[in-house]
Amino acid sequence: MTAVSLFAQKEPVKPFIQSLPYDSASVPRERFVDFQHLRLEASFEPTQGKVNGWVTHRFQAIRQNVDTLFFDGPDIQIQEVNYHDQKLTIRKYETGFTVVFPKALSWNSADSLSIRYVAFPRHGLYFVGWNDPTNRARKQIWSQGQGTDNRCWLPMFDNMNDKITSEMIITMAKPYKVLSNGVKLGVKDVGANQIWHYRMNKPHAPYLIMLGIGDYEIDARKTGSGLAVNLWYYPDWKDRVAGTYAKSTEMIEFFEKEIGVPFPWENYSQIPVQEFMYGAMENTTATVFGDFFFNDARGLLDRSYVGVNAHELAHQWFGDMVTARSETHHWLQESFATHYNMMYEREAFGQDYFDLARRNAQNAALNASTRDLYPVASSDAGSTRWYPKGAVVLEMLKYVVGREEFNRAINHYLKSHAYDNVDTEDLLIAFHETLGYSLNWFWDQWIYRGGEPVYKVESESTKESTRFIVSQLQEKLPYVGLFKMPIVFEVHFTDGSKESKTVWISEKVHNVKIDHPAGKIAAYALFDPGNQVIKAVVFNKSFDQLKQQALSAQYMLDRLDAVIAMSDLPIDQKRDVLIQVYKKETFHEVREAVIEQLAKDKNKKSRQLMASSFTDSDLIIRKAAVASYDTIPKDFKKSYEGLLNELSYQLQEEVLYKLCLSFPADRATYLEKTKLEMGNNAHNVRITWLEWSIKNGNKAAITELADLASVSFEFNTRRGALTLAKELSIFNEDFLKHALDAARSANNRMSSAGVGYLNWAYKLNPEWKTMIDSQLNTWNAQQKWEYDLAKKIQK
Ligand SMILES: [Zn+2]
Repeated sequence: MTAVSLFAQKEPVKPFIQSLPYDSASVPRERFVDFQHLRLEASFEPTQGKVNGWVTHRFQAIRQNVDTLFFDGPDIQIQEVNYHDQKLTIRKYETGFTVVFPKALSWNSADSLSIRYVAFPRHGLYFVGWNDPTNRARKQIWSQGQGTDNRCWLPMFDNMNDKITSEMIITMAKPYKVLSNGVKLGVKDVGANQIWHYRMNKPHAPYLIMLGIGDYEIDARKTGSGLAVNLWYYPDWKDRVAGTYAKSTEMIEFFEKEIGVPFPWENYSQIPVQEFMYGAMENTTATVFGDFFFNDARGLLDRSYVGVNAHELAHQWFGDMVTARSETHHWLQESFATHYNMMYEREAFGQDYFDLARRNAQNAALNASTRDLYPVASSDAGSTRWYPKGAVVLEMLKYVVGREEFNRAINHYLKSHAYDNVDTEDLLIAFHETLGYSLNWFWDQWIYRGGEPVYKVESESTKESTRFIVSQLQEKLPYVGLFKMPIVFEVHFTDGSKESKTVWISEKVHNVKIDHPAGKIAAYALFDPGNQVIKAVVFNKSFDQLKQQALSAQYMLDRLDAVIAMSDLPIDQKRDVLIQVYKKETFHEVREAVIEQLAKDKNKKSRQLMASSFTDSDLIIRKAAVASYDTIPKDFKKSYEGLLNELSYQLQEEVLYKLCLSFPADRATYLEKTKLEMGNNAHNVRITWLEWSIKNGNKAAITELADLASVSFEFNTRRGALTLAKELSIFNEDFLKHALDAARSANNRMSSAGVGYLNWAYKLNPEWKTMIDSQLNTWNAQQKWEYDLAKKIQK
């Protein structure tokens, strides 16, 4: 496609495509047929991790003479391919198999075939908790298809560029419930089993096919417009439902209004699963998320599900309804989901919260540029650019064109490509068609090229005016040029009023002048107030200017920047101002920046402020206070002790740890006071409690720690227990067994904890090495992954 010819350009179009590094992933995968419908009938043998499947594919040739057809399906055992009651010959490959048709297919011939198969998937479908000898673990089966893992348990053309409707007919033992994509057509009792039938009536990409199976209850809600929202939960966690799923329907209503396109599917469900390797996954109509987000009221103080919830929800439009045509355009999914998630958080938590998230995203982008300069639209961009950078690039686009204009263009983009694939040019075209002007320059500098601007700003005020000199300092490279952006300049006067001016900054050096109204005296100046543009800035200001900015700037980020800019100033110069800022400021991030600078100050006024911060009503401030000291100063001993029964599990853990470390004589008292505390899902408080109990000579605590490392517990608990055992140099047969179980997990985060522990023991002690070797010998290393894993442990 050549988008260029569509535009009535005032200026010649830059040949930006040629400036890109070649991205082989920009080419969509080759297809020979158009797959239309997938119908799976499946049952499982969970203790063996086995899938018995019968899948029917409907398709239509898109070329003349299609004599063979390839299906993805690594390690799947194909038992039969049935084609109009005829068994087809197949050719097997490492990554899948090819079927040979008796007669070549031709254009437009609607056709179908069915495949009977068995799979023991290592990836794509996960069997959790079925082999716990103590029968305490939750028993689940769940899928994770993105990027290309569904092919490991379901043979198909597994690529984002061929959308299909799908149908899942799953046989499962009672009382387990089954969730899949789309509408539940029915559940039929057949002896000890039930057959669950789901159907997607609109096409979606194969990586979005999902299954979630286990012991669940469902909280059924409805949005204002009548959309059914089914929120799945563990029956023993009913009391966590309200807090975890807070705002779930509200955010759907918010997105429908903001995006202007109704929720694109017939219903929406969410299901937590154990041992999930990512945060969450936006399968069409059915989001799967890690149950570590499913917290009680205390756990929610540290970790809310709202942001991730909104992110996956936004994907139902961006990613599920319109799907990237190839990996190069992955940002069209993740940047949008992150952007709309931030939008919802602003709605729920306010502008300051949003601004801080935006600043963090901008800083992440600047950081990534110290490593490489890939553009956002690249299969090599990496998650920092697909998620935070792209999200704030969209925010800048909105800043350039206007929120209403942005929303109209996005609406047009979605409607033009509904249930289809898209690429980065489609988005650009949608903006052009909607707004009538070219944004090629914006795509060029922020999406097709990498890097960010580095501005040097100098300002000088006289009685009559303030003059700015702005230079762009970034190194000019093939993929990074000069940046063009509208930037606001502001002069604030001592009487609280201001003058501002917006100037397009595009050259290497710009001069900007703002005249002062008669009699007004400049207090401080701002370059891009509120921080709209991703950038690094060098803008030196006097202490007096920083002081006025920290105390009176309208936007939180400008106040924050002023406080941070004081970091290197002598404490006696800035102490009183910082204390004044702390007392006046309402947002935690600025107050934290003050705490950071005053924590080490011995002056009485700073000590008083620090003492008050331990009992601040804002949890984040209490956390900042506690984090300020590695060993607790004597005069704050009482302050820390006062937080030992803190509701936040994270804070409680840190307080317990630091008290035990700093005051060994009082350890027994601290442990007695917290002996009933378990902490969050990962047992964080209990594991810290066990640590100090073991250090205090409590042998039973070692047995309990080993139990926490076993398959009976969720993976963050097991990781924490193994990490602690290693730190305390504890090795025995129990830990060996649990570490081997952990190492074999298909979840990398679990596996790496097991491997780390075993590898440490293997190298440290010849006796332990022998014990590990003899266990590994029983594996027989029949599969490649087992062989590779053993090698990692024995390294
Ligand atoms: Zn995402």
